[in-house]
Amino acid sequence: MESARAYRFRIHPDAKRREEIDRRLILAQRLYNKILEKSRGEYGKNRNSKINRSTLNGFMREAINENKYFLLLYSQTRQDVFIRLQKAFQNFFRRINAKKNGKRTRAGFPRFKSKDTYASLAYPQDNGSFQIERIKGFSRLRVARIGTMKIDMHRTMEGKVKTMAIKREAGRYYAIFTAMKESAASSVENTRPVGIDVGLNSFIAMSDGKRAEKPKFMQERRKTLARWQRIISRRKKGSRRRETAKLKLQREWERVNNRSNDYLHKLSDMLVNSGYTSFAVENLHIQNMMKNHRLAGSIQNASWSRFVQMLSYKAESAGMKVIKVDPRNTSKTCSGCGNIQNTPLSMREYDCGRCGLRLDRDMNASINILHRATTAGHAGSHARGDTTSTAQRGPQVESPNREHTPEIISGGSPRL
Ligand SMILES: [Zn+2]
Repeated sequence: MESARAYRFRIHPDAKRREEIDRRLILAQRLYNKILEKSRGEYGKNRNSKINRSTLNGFMREAINENKYFLLLYSQTRQDVFIRLQKAFQNFFRRINAKKNGKRTRAGFPRFKSKDTYASLAYPQDNGSFQIERIKGFSRLRVARIGTMKIDMHRTMEGKVKTMAIKREAGRYYAIFTAMKESAASSVENTRPVGIDVGLNSFIAMSDGKRAEKPKFMQERRKTLARWQRIISRRKKGSRRRETAKLKLQREWERVNNRSNDYLHKLSDMLVNSGYTSFAVENLHIQNMMKNHRLAGSIQNASWSRFVQMLSYKAESAGMKVIKVDPRNTSKTCSGCGNIQNTPLSMREYDCGRCGLRLDRDMNASINILHRATTAGHAGSHARGDTTSTAQRGPQVESPNREHTPEIISGGSPRL
């Protein structure tokens, strides 16, 4: 089985290369908006018009004929502009159909992109348009028509590199690669499965009583980000002070993201190397639909989903499975007798009214998760290392910092 994995490295284009990248970003954004404008006109004239592949293709040709500067964009980047538009329209028409079928949703027309929302140039195929060169111990990235720049390759890419994107973020530049890797054929015999719950009391709680504490910065970051958000909304639109604050927010976001990725990488490495043979987790997708209130906000949610992705691809390359189970009632069910009861969020322990089991609530849930994975019907769904969807926010490692090193703690054994 093949799995995709994203790698993100900082690149250091000099002034000349920066100019080349920025110019192409503006061109790609303009091309996108130009085709969108034409589609908008078409749709305005006839609500029944299907803006499909061939319409978009026609508008793309028109746009290029009107402005030959668009030809400065590498053909692959133009192709990427096209793919983005196609996706935007597919989503738009899907929402319209959902609305027709009585679903309450807003079907807004695809929006124009600003310079902040169009911030990456994609090279969807590795056909020689980009290359990594090593000169005297340094790595350099060569990109067709842009040039060569220093790249910080802090980890080696495993597998075959398929795509690359150059991204501008808070005034810095990154190269994001996706690589496909053939996973280990031999699978490990499942002698030591473990259930993992997103903790309320801790970051994760495991069915064998071990847990990892919530890192402090994850708690703090929400406050910091909210503060900057407030500052930005106070400042006048278009003012330099507002732009400065926006940049600060982006930098802050990047900093906490790096820290948390670092933490999540270490934690998932640790778990894969702890002697477990499979991992059962809640299916986040279903959890989202249920609007599970146990998750304190979208930030923890995002960390958890990234953690599951990391764990999935690492486990998979080691021949182990990650099984995703239905999260329904995992925290309400007694892992001892199956009794279902409400446990207020303020209670750290599950206290069964039927059989008298008392146990850390997260650990109780993780045992239920493990049960679900091992009972028939749930056994088997193989972990997919599907990291491509988050390629834009892909993994990145900051220099190791002891403060953020996860620690797996024993304890919380069941009490009867
Ligand atoms: Zn019970």
